[in-house]
Amino acid sequence: MSGRLALGCHLSTTGGYAEMGRRALGIGASTFAFFTRNPRGGNAKPLDERDVAELRQLMADNDFGKLVAHAPYTMNLCSAKLETIDFARRAMAGDLERMESLPGNYYNFHPGSHVKQGTDRGIELICEGLNEVLVPGQGTIVLLETMAGKGSEVGQTFEELARIIDGTTHDELLGVCLDTCHVSDAGYDIVSDLEGVLDEFDRVIGLDRLRALHLNDSKNPRGSHKDRHEKIGQGTLGVDCFASIVRHPLLRTLPMVLETPNELDGYAQEIALLRGLAGEDRD
Ligand code: FE
Ligand code: FE
Ligand code: ZN
Repeated sequence: MSGRLALGCHLSTTGGYAEMGRRALGIGASTFAFFTRNPRGGNAKPLDERDVAELRQLMADNDFGKLVAHAPYTMNLCSAKLETIDFARRAMAGDLERMESLPGNYYNFHPGSHVKQGTDRGIELICEGLNEVLVPGQGTIVLLETMAGKGSEVGQTFEELARIIDGTTHDELLGVCLDTCHVSDAGYDIVSDLEGVLDEFDRVIGLDRLRALHLNDSKNPRGSHKDRHEKIGQGTLGVDCFASIVRHPLLRTLPMVLETPNELDGYAQEIALLRGLAGEDRD
C-alpha cells in the first residue's frame, strides 16, 4: 500500500491555527478538524492572516491532507424559526468567506433538523439556504454529513443527501462526509457489508461525492438512531471494521477525522492504532 493516511482528530481552536497544526503534528496526525466559530457566540473573528499562512506552510512541509472544518452544531438551515434559519445562513456565508484564507479545504455541516415540518420541507429549506450561501468559484467544498437520524435529523439516508445535492444549483461545490457511527446508527451495515454500503452510496449519490470520513465507533447497535460516539474498537463497530476502512483502496485516500471521546493522548493512541492497521511504518 502506498501513501500515508490523511488522519487526525477534532482539535480545539484555542491558540490559533498554526497551534492546531503543531498539536496535530505532536499526535502523529496529518489533518484535523475544528469548529469554525464558537457554537454560542455571535460574530466570529476574522482569521489572522499570518497565523493562517504559518499553518499553510506547516501543512505543506508535513504533507497534510485537506482539513475538514466543522460548522457549529447550533446551525440549522431547516429550523421552523425564521431567525434560526437566518442565523444559519449568515453563519455559513461568513464561515465560507473566512475559509477563503485557507482555500482548498473542506467545510462540513449537519444538514439540519426539520423539527416536525417533515423531511420534504426540511430538504427544501436546506437547498434554499445553500442556494443563497454558496458562491460560484469559492475555494471550499461544502460537505453534507451523514446523520444518525436522531430526532428529526435530515440526512440519515443516502437518498435524502442525494435530494439535497439535486436541489442545489451549484452542486459542484457539494460533497459528503461519511460518519461511521452515524451511518451505522442510521441502519447501514458497514460491519459485515462495507462493500455493499459503498455500492449503495455509489448508486444513490455517486462515490465521487464522498470526500471525507469521520471515524467513530458507536455505543449503540446498528439502526439505533442514537448518535453516541465510542472509542475506536470499543463499540459495536469494532476494530476489524476500521481495519477494512483504512485498508480500503478508495477510502484510504480520503481525509479521516476522529471524533471519539478522547483527550489528545487518547487520540495519539488511536492514530497510531489506525496507522498500524493500515500497514504504515512506525517511526
Ligand atoms: Fe458532525
Ligand atoms: Fe461526525
Ligand atoms: Zn455524531
